[in-house]
Amino acid sequence: MSPGEGRDEIEPGLLQVNPFCVQPLKSGKHQLPVRCPTLRATLDAVDDGMLAADVEGRLAFSDRRACEMAGLDPDCNGCSHLSDFGLPALEQLHRQAVASPDRLLVADLAFPRTGVFCEVRMRAIVDDSGRTLGAVAVLKDARSKRMYDRLKADLLAAVSHELRTPLTSILGYASLLLDAGDEMDEEDRSSCLQTIETQGKRLLELINDVIEMGKLDSETLQLKKETCAAGSILEDVASDIRDGHHAARPDVDIVVERAEDDDTVCDALRIRQAVSHLLSNALRYSPPGGKVVLASRREDGRVVIEVRDQGPGIPPDKQGHLFEKFYKVEPPGEGRSGGTGLGLAIVKRIVDLHGGQVFVESALGKGSVFGFTLPAAETKPETRDLAA
Ligand code: ADP
Repeated sequence: MSPGEGRDEIEPGLLQVNPFCVQPLKSGKHQLPVRCPTLRATLDAVDDGMLAADVEGRLAFSDRRACEMAGLDPDCNGCSHLSDFGLPALEQLHRQAVASPDRLLVADLAFPRTGVFCEVRMRAIVDDSGRTLGAVAVLKDARSKRMYDRLKADLLAAVSHELRTPLTSILGYASLLLDAGDEMDEEDRSSCLQTIETQGKRLLELINDVIEMGKLDSETLQLKKETCAAGSILEDVASDIRDGHHAARPDVDIVVERAEDDDTVCDALRIRQAVSHLLSNALRYSPPGGKVVLASRREDGRVVIEVRDQGPGIPPDKQGHLFEKFYKVEPPGEGRSGGTGLGLAIVKRIVDLHGGQVFVESALGKGSVFGFTLPAAETKPETRDLAA
């Protein structure tokens, strides 16, 4: 009997020579279980599915992932042939691989039982004498890749759409000015120029936000974390706004409520950026003479930062989408907010990078609370004056 043939257990020596030689392909026996625990664990640890079949399509092995993708028993019980995977395209790919042993074949396939979409890479198994023994396939779950491609396409479409609106307006008003020449009166001319300026600023704001989002999404971003009091960040942001460093609403009262012991470990500049976004939204949606509260406190070992306003509130069905890129809710009766729809996505990204969570509480007609948690700094143990 040749090594491994007709046995349920694998000879240890055989595995050292070729760890994949679990059930020799020339064997007449086509049972599937991978019997070596080390090999089984290795295959299970890999996120991709793997299988091998002889030239007739009889399975030599199939790991747990491949069986799960196909909707089969994870141990591949009752499954002995490629046809058991219920995917004729897989069998066809196998026939092609066996017929052209030099080629690596790659195809996108979907398993009908589970709907799992995967990228299959298949190649013939050839022995030392050049004889084709079968084919091996790696099945890569392509749902995440597909989702990523779709997200990228959606993002591109959203950016292009957002850029086109102000740009169209700028070009329209510029040609109006050019066509009218000296015939346009001073008031109309200045109104056109004002629109061009406003739309130009909007375009710049959008481009800045997209660049910022790109920086925050980049894997190389390094946070400069230090211990600092959340309340002092709130004070800084509030006084920047009051001093007019950002678009201000002088009619809205900005109040900071800080609790003691609100030290957090964070990149203070990034957290300032997040709070500024929340504050400018709160100001934008505040009613004339309204009040915005910036609050910090310690809760369950974390620091909570909140921005509360008395604005129109957000309908419950819209709240789940607020932190998505380019998502905008038009407040009832308020018309277009003119923002980029990226502000809250930027806030969420900054908070994610700190290991915190964002949240929103809002009631129509009453106002909104936008906030996030941050890890609290370790509290210093109380020191006792032993000399006393
Ligand atoms: P934008 O730059 O357009 O404001 P954001 O991501 O900051 O983008 O906000 C997304 C949407 O959430 C906004 O279009 C607005 O409709 C809504 N929103 C954000 N903050 C508030 C708030 N404080 N009150 C009411 N609606 C808000």
